Amino acid sequence: MVAPTQITYRGRFAPSPTGFLHLGSLVTALGGFLQARSNHGEWLVRMEDLDLPRNLAGAADDILFTLETCGLHWDGAVLYQTTRNEIYFEMLHSLKDQTFLCGCSRKELQYNQGFYDGKCRHGIPFGKTPRTIRLKVPDQIISFEDLIQGSFQQNLSKEVGDFVIKRADGCYAYQLAVVIDDAMQNITEIVRGCDLLDSTPRQIYLQSLLKYPTPKYAHLSIITNTLGQKLSKQTLAKPIDKKNPLPALFQALQYLGHAPPLELLNEKVETLLQWAITNWQLSKIPHVFAQIE
Ligand code: GLU
Repeated sequence: MVAPTQITYRGRFAPSPTGFLHLGSLVTALGGFLQARSNHGEWLVRMEDLDLPRNLAGAADDILFTLETCGLHWDGAVLYQTTRNEIYFEMLHSLKDQTFLCGCSRKELQYNQGFYDGKCRHGIPFGKTPRTIRLKVPDQIISFEDLIQGSFQQNLSKEVGDFVIKRADGCYAYQLAVVIDDAMQNITEIVRGCDLLDSTPRQIYLQSLLKYPTPKYAHLSIITNTLGQKLSKQTLAKPIDKKNPLPALFQALQYLGHAPPLELLNEKVETLLQWAITNWQLSKIPHVFAQIE
Protein backbone atom coordinates (compact mmCIF):
# COMPACT_ATOMS: atom_id res chain seq x y z
CA MET A 1 0.00 0.00 0.00
CA VAL A 2 1.17 3.56 -0.73
CA ALA A 3 2.49 5.49 2.30
CA PRO A 4 0.01 8.13 3.55
CA THR A 5 2.19 11.08 2.50
CA GLN A 6 2.17 9.96 -1.14
CA ILE A 7 -1.57 9.42 -1.34
CA THR A 8 -3.38 12.02 -3.32
CA TYR A 9 -6.76 10.31 -3.38
CA ARG A 10 -8.12 7.59 -1.17
CA GLY A 11 -11.80 6.74 -1.08
CA ARG A 12 -13.77 4.01 0.61
CA PHE A 13 -17.01 2.04 0.57
CA ALA A 14 -18.34 1.32 4.04
CA PRO A 15 -21.32 -1.03 3.91
CA SER A 16 -23.15 -2.26 6.99
CA PRO A 17 -23.67 -6.02 6.67
CA THR A 18 -27.35 -5.82 7.51
CA GLY A 19 -28.43 -7.17 4.13
CA PHE A 20 -27.18 -8.01 0.66
CA LEU A 21 -25.92 -5.57 -1.97
CA HIS A 22 -28.88 -4.18 -3.93
CA LEU A 23 -29.17 -1.55 -6.65
CA GLY A 24 -29.10 1.31 -4.12
CA SER A 25 -25.89 0.16 -2.42
CA LEU A 26 -24.38 -0.77 -5.79
CA VAL A 27 -24.85 2.83 -6.95
CA THR A 28 -22.92 4.04 -3.88
CA ALA A 29 -20.15 1.47 -4.35
CA LEU A 30 -19.86 2.18 -8.07
CA GLY A 31 -19.89 5.97 -7.61
CA GLY A 32 -17.08 5.75 -5.05
CA PHE A 33 -15.09 3.26 -7.10
CA LEU A 34 -15.28 5.36 -10.28
CA GLN A 35 -14.44 8.57 -8.47
CA ALA A 36 -11.35 6.88 -6.96
CA ARG A 37 -10.17 5.13 -10.09
CA SER A 38 -10.69 8.13 -12.37
CA ASN A 39 -8.53 10.10 -9.91
CA HIS A 40 -5.89 7.34 -10.04
CA GLY A 41 -6.60 6.80 -6.38
CA GLU A 42 -7.11 3.95 -3.98
CA TRP A 43 -10.48 2.58 -2.99
CA LEU A 44 -10.87 0.70 0.28
CA VAL A 45 -13.69 -1.35 1.74
CA ARG A 46 -14.61 -1.14 5.41
CA MET A 47 -17.24 -3.39 6.93
CA GLU A 48 -19.30 -1.32 9.36
CA ASP A 49 -20.41 -4.24 11.46
CA LEU A 50 -20.65 -2.57 14.88
CA ASP A 51 -24.41 -2.75 15.14
CA LEU A 52 -24.40 -6.40 16.18
CA PRO A 53 -28.17 -6.86 16.52
CA ARG A 54 -28.67 -5.64 12.93
CA ASN A 55 -25.91 -7.72 11.31
CA LEU A 56 -27.19 -10.48 9.07
CA ALA A 57 -25.25 -13.74 9.09
CA GLY A 58 -23.38 -14.19 5.81
CA ALA A 59 -24.10 -10.66 4.56
CA ALA A 60 -20.51 -9.34 4.87
CA ASP A 61 -19.06 -12.16 2.76
CA ASP A 62 -21.91 -11.91 0.31
CA ILE A 63 -21.38 -8.14 -0.16
CA LEU A 64 -17.65 -8.69 -0.79
CA PHE A 65 -18.31 -11.50 -3.23
CA THR A 66 -20.88 -9.38 -5.08
CA LEU A 67 -18.42 -6.46 -5.34
CA GLU A 68 -15.88 -8.84 -6.84
CA THR A 69 -18.31 -10.28 -9.37
CA CYS A 70 -19.15 -6.67 -10.33
CA GLY A 71 -15.44 -6.02 -10.96
CA LEU A 72 -15.30 -3.51 -8.10
CA HIS A 73 -11.96 -4.68 -6.71
CA TRP A 74 -10.73 -2.82 -3.65
CA ASP A 75 -7.23 -2.07 -2.38
CA GLY A 76 -5.71 -3.63 0.72
CA ALA A 77 -7.45 -5.71 3.34
CA VAL A 78 -11.06 -5.14 4.37
CA LEU A 79 -11.27 -3.40 7.75
CA TYR A 80 -13.89 -4.84 10.12
CA GLN A 81 -15.03 -2.36 12.73
CA THR A 82 -15.74 -5.12 15.24
CA THR A 83 -11.96 -5.63 15.53
CA ARG A 84 -11.41 -2.02 16.62
CA ASN A 85 -13.02 -1.62 20.02
CA GLU A 86 -9.69 -0.81 21.69
CA ILE A 87 -9.02 2.21 19.53
CA TYR A 88 -12.62 3.44 19.84
CA PHE A 89 -12.28 3.11 23.63
CA GLU A 90 -9.06 5.12 23.60
CA MET A 91 -10.47 7.93 21.46
CA LEU A 92 -13.68 8.03 23.47
CA HIS A 93 -11.56 8.44 26.58
CA SER A 94 -9.68 11.33 24.97
CA LEU A 95 -13.05 13.10 24.60
CA LYS A 96 -13.97 12.70 28.25
CA ASP A 97 -14.18 16.44 28.96
CA GLN A 98 -16.75 16.86 26.20
CA THR A 99 -18.94 13.85 27.02
CA PHE A 100 -21.49 12.92 29.66
CA LEU A 101 -23.53 9.93 30.73
CA CYS A 102 -27.16 10.05 29.78
CA GLY A 103 -30.00 8.10 31.36
CA CYS A 104 -32.73 8.92 28.84
CA SER A 105 -34.32 6.02 27.01
CA ARG A 106 -35.13 6.06 23.33
CA LYS A 107 -38.81 6.04 24.23
CA GLU A 108 -38.49 9.26 26.23
CA LEU A 109 -36.66 10.92 23.36
CA GLN A 110 -39.39 10.08 20.89
CA TYR A 111 -41.66 12.50 22.72
CA ASN A 112 -39.17 15.10 21.55
CA GLN A 113 -38.97 13.88 17.91
CA GLY A 114 -35.53 12.42 18.52
CA PHE A 115 -33.98 15.81 19.33
CA TYR A 116 -32.00 15.66 22.55
CA ASP A 117 -32.87 18.48 24.89
CA GLY A 118 -29.77 18.20 27.10
CA LYS A 119 -31.59 16.80 30.10
CA CYS A 120 -28.60 14.85 31.52
CA ARG A 121 -25.89 17.31 30.41
CA HIS A 122 -25.30 18.47 33.98
CA GLY A 123 -25.84 15.13 35.68
CA ILE A 124 -28.31 12.27 35.50
CA PRO A 125 -31.57 13.12 37.31
CA PHE A 126 -32.17 11.18 40.53
CA GLY A 127 -33.60 7.72 39.93
CA LYS A 128 -32.21 7.28 36.40
CA THR A 129 -29.40 4.90 35.50
CA PRO A 130 -26.67 5.68 32.93
CA ARG A 131 -27.48 4.29 29.50
CA THR A 132 -25.52 6.08 26.78
CA ILE A 133 -22.55 8.40 26.44
CA ARG A 134 -23.27 11.65 24.63
CA LEU A 135 -21.06 14.34 23.15
CA LYS A 136 -21.81 17.95 24.06
CA VAL A 137 -22.29 20.05 20.97
CA PRO A 138 -21.72 23.80 20.62
CA ASP A 139 -24.22 26.46 19.60
CA GLN A 140 -22.40 27.13 16.37
CA ILE A 141 -23.04 26.63 12.67
CA ILE A 142 -21.01 23.93 10.97
CA SER A 143 -20.94 24.21 7.21
CA PHE A 144 -19.24 22.42 4.36
CA GLU A 145 -19.29 22.36 0.59
CA ASP A 146 -20.50 19.03 -0.74
CA LEU A 147 -19.09 18.15 -4.17
CA ILE A 148 -22.54 17.12 -5.42
CA GLN A 149 -25.15 18.69 -3.15
CA GLY A 150 -23.48 22.09 -2.74
CA SER A 151 -23.26 23.96 0.55
CA PHE A 152 -24.82 22.42 3.62
CA GLN A 153 -24.93 23.72 7.14
CA GLN A 154 -26.30 22.78 10.50
CA ASN A 155 -26.34 24.17 14.01
CA LEU A 156 -25.79 20.99 16.03
CA SER A 157 -27.18 22.35 19.28
CA LYS A 158 -30.37 23.60 17.61
CA GLU A 159 -30.95 20.82 15.08
CA VAL A 160 -29.47 17.65 16.60
CA GLY A 161 -28.58 18.15 20.24
CA ASP A 162 -25.84 16.36 22.20
CA PHE A 163 -25.51 13.07 20.34
CA VAL A 164 -24.79 9.48 21.34
CA ILE A 165 -21.27 8.20 20.79
CA LYS A 166 -21.62 5.03 22.88
CA ARG A 167 -24.93 3.26 22.80
CA ALA A 168 -27.00 1.75 25.59
CA ASP A 169 -26.16 -1.77 24.36
CA GLY A 170 -22.43 -1.02 24.72
CA CYS A 171 -21.73 -0.66 20.97
CA TYR A 172 -19.71 2.36 19.86
CA ALA A 173 -21.95 4.61 17.79
CA TYR A 174 -21.56 4.94 14.02
CA GLN A 175 -20.71 8.67 14.28
CA LEU A 176 -17.66 8.03 16.45
CA ALA A 177 -16.38 4.91 14.69
CA VAL A 178 -16.72 6.32 11.18
CA VAL A 179 -14.74 9.44 12.07
CA ILE A 180 -11.93 7.47 13.70
CA ASP A 181 -11.68 4.98 10.86
CA ASP A 182 -11.88 7.53 8.04
CA ALA A 183 -9.00 9.41 9.68
CA MET A 184 -6.91 6.35 10.50
CA GLN A 185 -7.34 4.99 6.99
CA ASN A 186 -6.30 8.39 5.58
CA ILE A 187 -9.47 8.76 3.53
CA THR A 188 -9.29 11.94 1.48
CA GLU A 189 -12.78 11.91 -0.04
CA ILE A 190 -16.00 10.27 1.07
CA VAL A 191 -18.57 9.28 -1.53
CA ARG A 192 -21.74 7.95 0.09
CA GLY A 193 -25.51 8.19 0.10
CA CYS A 194 -27.34 11.42 0.69
CA ASP A 195 -29.13 9.90 3.67
CA LEU A 196 -25.90 10.65 5.56
CA LEU A 197 -25.67 14.30 4.54
CA ASP A 198 -27.08 15.46 7.85
CA SER A 199 -24.65 13.25 9.80
CA THR A 200 -21.72 15.07 8.22
CA PRO A 201 -21.71 18.18 10.47
CA ARG A 202 -21.58 15.84 13.51
CA GLN A 203 -18.62 14.06 11.93
CA ILE A 204 -16.86 17.32 11.06
CA TYR A 205 -17.31 18.47 14.65
CA LEU A 206 -15.82 15.20 15.97
CA GLN A 207 -12.91 15.55 13.52
CA SER A 208 -12.17 18.98 14.94
CA LEU A 209 -12.18 17.68 18.52
CA LEU A 210 -9.94 14.74 17.64
CA LYS A 211 -7.63 16.96 15.55
CA TYR A 212 -8.28 14.97 12.40
CA PRO A 213 -8.36 16.52 8.92
CA THR A 214 -11.76 16.85 7.28
CA PRO A 215 -12.01 14.90 4.03
CA LYS A 216 -13.98 16.09 1.02
CA TYR A 217 -17.56 14.84 0.78
CA ALA A 218 -19.71 13.86 -2.18
CA HIS A 219 -23.21 12.72 -1.24
CA LEU A 220 -25.01 10.78 -3.93
CA SER A 221 -28.76 10.94 -4.19
CA ILE A 222 -30.36 7.76 -3.00
CA ILE A 223 -32.72 5.57 -4.95
CA THR A 224 -36.18 5.35 -3.54
CA ASN A 225 -39.08 3.09 -4.42
CA THR A 226 -42.44 4.45 -5.57
CA LEU A 227 -43.37 5.05 -1.91
CA GLY A 228 -40.37 7.33 -1.54
CA GLN A 229 -38.57 4.84 0.73
CA LYS A 230 -34.83 4.24 0.48
CA LEU A 231 -34.05 0.88 -1.14
CA SER A 232 -33.01 -1.48 1.63
CA LYS A 233 -33.57 -4.92 3.01
CA GLN A 234 -36.57 -3.51 4.92
CA THR A 235 -38.15 -2.20 1.71
CA LEU A 236 -37.48 -5.57 0.04
CA ALA A 237 -34.86 -4.39 -2.47
CA LYS A 238 -33.70 -7.28 -4.68
CA PRO A 239 -30.12 -8.50 -4.24
CA ILE A 240 -27.80 -8.01 -7.25
CA ASP A 241 -27.71 -11.07 -9.51
CA LYS A 242 -24.19 -12.36 -8.95
CA LYS A 243 -24.36 -14.62 -12.02
CA ASN A 244 -25.18 -11.72 -14.29
CA PRO A 245 -24.30 -8.36 -12.66
CA LEU A 246 -23.83 -6.43 -15.92
CA PRO A 247 -27.43 -5.13 -16.30
CA ALA A 248 -27.42 -3.85 -12.70
CA LEU A 249 -24.06 -2.11 -13.22
CA PHE A 250 -25.37 -0.59 -16.43
CA GLN A 251 -28.47 0.68 -14.64
CA ALA A 252 -26.39 1.98 -11.72
CA LEU A 253 -24.29 3.98 -14.18
CA GLN A 254 -27.44 5.46 -15.67
CA TYR A 255 -28.62 6.51 -12.21
CA LEU A 256 -25.26 8.21 -11.83
CA GLY A 257 -26.06 10.32 -14.90
CA HIS A 258 -23.87 8.45 -17.36
CA ALA A 259 -25.08 6.96 -20.63
CA PRO A 260 -22.97 3.96 -21.61
CA PRO A 261 -23.47 2.77 -25.22
CA LEU A 262 -26.02 -0.04 -25.38
CA GLU A 263 -23.49 -2.35 -27.08
CA LEU A 264 -21.66 -2.55 -23.77
CA LEU A 265 -24.53 -4.66 -22.47
CA ASN A 266 -23.04 -7.50 -24.54
CA GLU A 267 -19.54 -6.99 -23.21
CA LYS A 268 -17.76 -8.02 -20.05
CA VAL A 269 -18.09 -6.21 -16.74
CA GLU A 270 -14.47 -5.04 -17.08
CA THR A 271 -15.18 -3.41 -20.45
CA LEU A 272 -18.16 -1.51 -19.05
CA LEU A 273 -16.10 -0.37 -16.07
CA GLN A 274 -13.26 0.75 -18.29
CA TRP A 275 -15.69 2.85 -20.32
CA ALA A 276 -17.08 4.26 -17.07
CA ILE A 277 -13.65 5.19 -15.66
CA THR A 278 -12.72 6.96 -18.88
CA ASN A 279 -16.02 8.83 -19.13
CA TRP A 280 -16.63 9.52 -15.43
CA GLN A 281 -17.65 13.06 -14.49
CA LEU A 282 -18.91 13.92 -11.04
CA SER A 283 -20.76 16.92 -12.48
CA LYS A 284 -23.06 14.59 -14.44
CA ILE A 285 -24.54 13.04 -11.30
CA PRO A 286 -28.11 14.26 -10.81
CA HIS A 287 -29.03 15.82 -7.46
CA VAL A 288 -32.15 13.74 -7.30
CA PHE A 289 -32.63 10.25 -8.72
CA ALA A 290 -35.77 9.05 -10.38
CA GLN A 291 -37.88 6.53 -8.49
CA ILE A 292 -37.98 2.91 -9.50
CA GLU A 293 -40.82 0.42 -9.46
N1 GLU B 1 -22.34 2.01 6.96
C1 GLU B 1 -23.17 3.03 6.38
C2 GLU B 1 -24.26 2.41 5.54
O1 GLU B 1 -24.13 1.26 5.13
C3 GLU B 1 -22.38 3.97 5.50
C4 GLU B 1 -21.54 4.85 6.31
C5 GLU B 1 -20.70 5.85 5.54
O2 GLU B 1 -20.48 5.67 4.34
O3 GLU B 1 -20.25 6.77 6.18
O4 GLU B 1 -25.25 3.05 5.29
